[in-house]
Formats: sequence, structure tokens, C-alpha cells
Amino acid sequence: MAQAKRRIVVVGAGPGGLTAAMILAHRGFAVTVVERKSRVGGRNARLDLGPYKFDTGPTFLMMKQILDQCFAEAGADSGQLLEFTRLDPMYRLQFAKFALHATQDIERLKSEVACHFPGREAGVGRFMNYEKRRFEHMLPCLQKHYSTLGSLFSRNLLAVLPYLSLGRKVFDVLKGYFGEDELAISFSFQSKYLGMSPWECPGYFAMLAYIEYAFGVYHVTGGLSEISEKMAEQAVRNGAEIRLDTEVEQILLQGRRAVGVRLLGGEEIKCDDIVLNADFGDAMSRLIPPGVLRKYRPEKLAKKRFSCSTFMLYLGIDKELDLPHHTIYFADDYRRNVEDIFSHRGLSRDTSFYVRNATATDRSLAPAGHSAVYILVPVGNLRSPVDWAGETAGFRDLVVRRWCEKAGLGDLEPHIREEKILTPEDWRDDYRVYCGATFNLAHTTRQMVYLRPRNRFEELRRCYLVGGGTHPGSGLPTIYESGRIAANLLSRFHGVPFTSGNLNC
Ligand SMILES: Cc1cc2nc3c(=O)[nH]c(=O)nc-3n(C[C@H](O)[C@H](O)[C@H](O)COP(=O)(O)OP(=O)(O)OC[C@H]3O[C@@H](n4cnc5c(N)ncnc54)[C@H](O)[C@@H]3O)c2cc1C
Repeated sequence: MAQAKRRIVVVGAGPGGLTAAMILAHRGFAVTVVERKSRVGGRNARLDLGPYKFDTGPTFLMMKQILDQCFAEAGADSGQLLEFTRLDPMYRLQFAKFALHATQDIERLKSEVACHFPGREAGVGRFMNYEKRRFEHMLPCLQKHYSTLGSLFSRNLLAVLPYLSLGRKVFDVLKGYFGEDELAISFSFQSKYLGMSPWECPGYFAMLAYIEYAFGVYHVTGGLSEISEKMAEQAVRNGAEIRLDTEVEQILLQGRRAVGVRLLGGEEIKCDDIVLNADFGDAMSRLIPPGVLRKYRPEKLAKKRFSCSTFMLYLGIDKELDLPHHTIYFADDYRRNVEDIFSHRGLSRDTSFYVRNATATDRSLAPAGHSAVYILVPVGNLRSPVDWAGETAGFRDLVVRRWCEKAGLGDLEPHIREEKILTPEDWRDDYRVYCGATFNLAHTTRQMVYLRPRNRFEELRRCYLVGGGTHPGSGLPTIYESGRIAANLLSRFHGVPFTSGNLNC
């Protein structure tokens, strides 16, 4: 435990900030979390529409073991706080002419592949074997901090070099295993979890699909937002204070050292260190006094690559739907659709989308006989020339119509009781996401590891960064890691002992 209570302000109660807060509070720091919204969770918050409950963003929990470890480091057992369901099949992939059920049962998966692509099932074994090795080499590199140049020259990073598939993209790597485009797509669409195109995403992210098949995809009863709720409760049990409806207007500096925050309304909170969880791009544009930033000043930020955005539909339906928990519907011309999104050409009419019918697994999310359906359509971020005010209504109708056609549901319009839409502009304006890029800074090799915003922020002293726009990256497990790494860096700085081993440089 800390001898003198060091005071930490965490800006934002998203998954990254909450992870750091609950761990730091457990280690004896005096933690205050300030959150501008009236609920914790950020993009992972719960969304209520009448009697229907939705997750705003994350619906796939992968690498649950990282979450378990983070709770353990905050003195809690995640299994006591949350009810997890491993999904099998993990999801259904719906192409124009066939569907594939992604299952962790590898023999069953091979049979599925053989059924649609006879002879190609051997690719499954090659994929699992090689990606396992890649993952085992990559994981330690993603779990450490890169606060010093020296951290780049570690044994782990040298060992991973042969596994980087340099010069190759995720799609090429998967095509190498499977030969067929649609099979390669089935194991490479996961690049979209990073908000990237499989034709542009670095080849080493081929391991994303392996992570699903090896460790599974989980649902949490009540929705994945429950994770944030329970993290906040654990932080408070550990002594943290959480102030909702409290917006930070500016980080207070003495020279280049962060010394506190000024809230909207003028109140100042002084602290020893800041943990910044607000969306990275937005925080750089809004929260740091002008003229301070060098590497991430507005003109430089504008040149960085950012992820795609998402068009969201949350539908409360007065009918039980016979649909799996997760279905991904691919555009008839998937490559063209992906190019529309990432080459900023505008909205695709032939669009891919993902539908989550969580009520298939979890009856707590809607009244009996009803369904809470979440539809996510990947679209360009706000660098794309789309007039959302003019397009939203028509695009919404198109998506609902195509979903009903592809799923054979007939006309569901009369059954929609509650509805909410989020466009990229809502992500920017309501959720404060830079450029509406919901998955943050793109995961290009030039924006990874040492070249991604570091957990001990290189531009300001006593300021630590967590969340999807920072190292190691933008999915929940990596965001939890960012919170844990920041907590460990802070603990080490203040001489507070801790046991987790991810600080080896
Ligand atoms: C639609 C969607 C689907 C996703 N699906 C998945 C998935 O299935 N699996 C997965 O692993 N990941 C998924 N992600 C990615 C990622 O897990 C989530 O976006 C995650 O919530 C990001 O966490 P974070 O900590 O980076 O930030 P956020 O969740 O954005 O939290 C940041 C917090 O900071 C607050 N804040 C901002 N500015 C201020 C300020 N000035 N003062 C005070 N508070 C402030 C915000 O209100 C917010 O609460 C998805 C993301 C989206 C958007």
C-alpha cells in the first residue's frame, strides 16, 4: 500500500479508466474518476430504451482471462461479480449463398469448411498452428509499456520479428491458408474490430481470428456494459470516488507537468498524476492548452490514420426472433463495400452489417416475447463525404430492409417499438470521439507499439494514457491492458509494490 496517499485523477469512466481506477485504488492511491456522462462505461455503457436494454458498443468479449486478471489485481473475482456465457457457435457468417458457423470445436469447424469448400479444411489446422505461435510471441510485446526507446530492444520484440508477416496484409495471410476468397474473408473480417480493412490491416493481425477460436467469445448477462458497472463498483469499494456528470474542460499544467484538471464550471482538482481515458484524439484537440503539444498538435493529428466509424441501430422489437446471438451479414460485393468505407467514397448501398440478437441468450434484456436487437454498420469516419443529416433516414430504411430480406424475417417495421440511431456525427458530438472514428487511431505498423501514444504520455509529465487510442490498442482486452500498464507504471514511479509482471522492459 502507498505510504502517503498519492492523489490520482482519472479523466473518463470508460473501460480503460475504470481498470486503472480499481487497481490503483486497491493499491492505496486516492483516486477520483471524473466522467462527463451520467453513467459509467463510455462506449461500453448501457443504453436503455423503454423496457429494452442494449450495449452501446462492445458485444464480443474476447480474451476473458485478461479481464479476470485485472479484476484480481483490484482484489476481486470477476466470476463472483459477473455471469459469463461462452457462445458456441461464436457467430454465424452469412454470405449471399451460404452460411458458416464459427465454432471452437475445431473438428466441427473443419466439417463446416469441407461442406462448403471441399478440400480446403486442411487450412484450418495450418491456420490454428501458425497463428498460435504468432500469438504467443506477440502477447508479451503487447503487454509491456514502451515508455523508453530502450524498451524497443527487448528479447521479446526481437523474437517476434519473424512473425510479423511484414509487407503482407491480413487478407493475404488468410488467403494463404485457405485459398478461397470467402474463406479468407471468414477469418479476416475481424480486422473490422480494429476499424480497418482486411486488405490494409497489417498481416500479424491474422491472429485475431485465432484468439477467438482459441479462447472463445463471451456474453455477460445483462450485457457487456455490466463489466464497466462492476468495475466502477469495485473501484468505489476500494476507496475511489466517481463523479458523474462532471466534465473536464482542461488539464492544468505547470510547464509540461500535469498538476490537475479544471472542470466545466471552474472547479479545479489538484493531483499528483492524471490518467487520461477520454478519446485520445478528442482529448488532444480539446483538453490540453494550445501551444503545448508537439507530436500530437492538431495539424499533426489531422495527418494520422483513424479507424472507420459505425452507423448504429438499436431496436426494441415486440417479437421473439429466431436468430443467433451474433450474425455477420456480408455485402454481396464485400471488397467493394470495404473500399467504399476505407477509401472514403461514401455510403455503400450493398453494405455489410452485424446483428446482435442477445435476447437469444439473455432474457434479462427485453420483456418476455420481445427482442433487443443491435445492428452495427461499418461506415467511413467523418473524413468521408457523407451528408448524415440528409442520408440517415434513407440509410436506416435500407439497412432494416436488407436485414429483414437476408434473415427471412418478413416486414418487421410494425413490430419496432423502440428505436435509436447513432451516426458518426453522434459519436463525435455526443460521445466525443475524434472524427467519429469509433475504433480510434488506426492500427497501422506506424501507429503501433512505440509509435502509438504511450501509456506514460511522452508529451506531458505525470500524465498517463489509457483507452483504445493508446498502446496496446482498441479492443476491450487491450484497453484493459492499457489500464493495467498505466497502474503499474504509476505504482512503480511512486514505489508502491505490485505483483503483475507486465513491466519487463
Ligand atoms: C460500436 C462499437 C462496437 C464495439 N465492439 C467491440 C467488441 O465487440 N469487442 C471489443 O473488445 N471492443 C469493441 N469496441 C471497442 C472498445 O472496446 C470500446 O470502444 C471501448 O468502450 C473503448 O473504451 P475506452 O476506455 O477507450 O474509451 P470510452 O469507452 O470512449 O470511454 C471514455 C470515457 O471518457 C469520458 N470523457 C471524455 N471526455 C471527457 C471529459 N472531458 N471529461 C470527463 N469525461 C470525459 C467519456 O464520456 C467516456 O465515458 C467497440 C466499440 C464501438 C464504438
